[in-house]
Amino acid sequence: MRKISKIAVLTSGGDAPGMNPCIRAVVRTAIYNKLEVVGIRQGYQGLIDNNMYEMNTRSVSNILNLGGTILKTARCLPFRTDEGMETAYNNLKAQGIDGIVVIGGDGTFTGALRFSQRFPDIAVMGVPGTIDNDLYGSTYTLGFDTATNTVIEAIDKIRDTADAHDRLFFIEVMGRDSGAIALRAGISCGAEAILLPERATAIDDLIESLKAGQFNKKSSSIVIVAEGDKSGGVYDLAERVRGQVKFYDIKVTILGHLQRGGSPSAFDRILGSRLGFAAVNALIAGKSQMMVGLEANHIKLTTLEEALTQHQFKLEDDLMQMSEILSI
Ligand code: ATP
Repeated sequence: MRKISKIAVLTSGGDAPGMNPCIRAVVRTAIYNKLEVVGIRQGYQGLIDNNMYEMNTRSVSNILNLGGTILKTARCLPFRTDEGMETAYNNLKAQGIDGIVVIGGDGTFTGALRFSQRFPDIAVMGVPGTIDNDLYGSTYTLGFDTATNTVIEAIDKIRDTADAHDRLFFIEVMGRDSGAIALRAGISCGAEAILLPERATAIDDLIESLKAGQFNKKSSSIVIVAEGDKSGGVYDLAERVRGQVKFYDIKVTILGHLQRGGSPSAFDRILGSRLGFAAVNALIAGKSQMMVGLEANHIKLTTLEEALTQHQFKLEDDLMQMSEILSI
């Protein structure tokens, strides 16, 4: 069995609230188990630039409540090249690092898998950290719960003003190709319609349901549009509806990057702690090329290969139907 004595930790891709609790758990679990631990700044870019530092239990004091990531993150093109990976490998070897925890999304895992297939003597363990909640092998990813709550808080405020003025708001939320945030926020805020990338948008149906809402004396309407929705973008959509829905003043809001920030929710703090703890224990147990996830409230290991190939966006029809019925 492989013996691990020194590990590294990095965050990569989009930042997500919950990454800091996870870093804290990785560092302290490693130290508890007598491992040395190194923090890598700016994701894979830091591996290539040798931007690393030794961490101790105090390096992660008072970060549970912080959004973002103390290690910083980056999108790193050179890591996609053979030369970039080789430089990263040489830097890790020079430090005597034999295992690495990577916290990020599917791009991060693709890089981690390619790296460890090429250099199998360094063990890699993935932690799903992305607000998009789009990874196979974990019911929830780090940051999704906090981001959804942030969206809900913002939409509740928009609802107040929409109601006061009899307005229809089109609100774009994040999630890339996943409608997970849009659907949960839509249910939580009683959105009159939710447009998702997983489902073709029927504009005629949308207009009919807005008309029905007005007939039922609704004083405002909220349409949540996931950023990956394929109907041409939120402004275009609002224009197309404006021509046919005269009874509402129509406004558009793009929530944007505020969805990534903020103190992690209790759920994300606990998830980050559990996944970071499990990732280090999995490395100590000799595992590699895997992702730690949470399913049915239990830690589950999935191969990175499976996490990436099974990665698919499924439409949660039952939730959509319920949302439509409850928002009549
Ligand atoms: P999020 O879902 O929040 O955007 P992500 O991990 O998917 O997170 P990406 O920007 O797609 O974010 O990927 C993060 C980094 O992973 C990239 O900047 C790049 O360094 C590395 N990466 C992505 N794809 C590959 C690949 N095919 N080979 C090597 N490295 C890759």
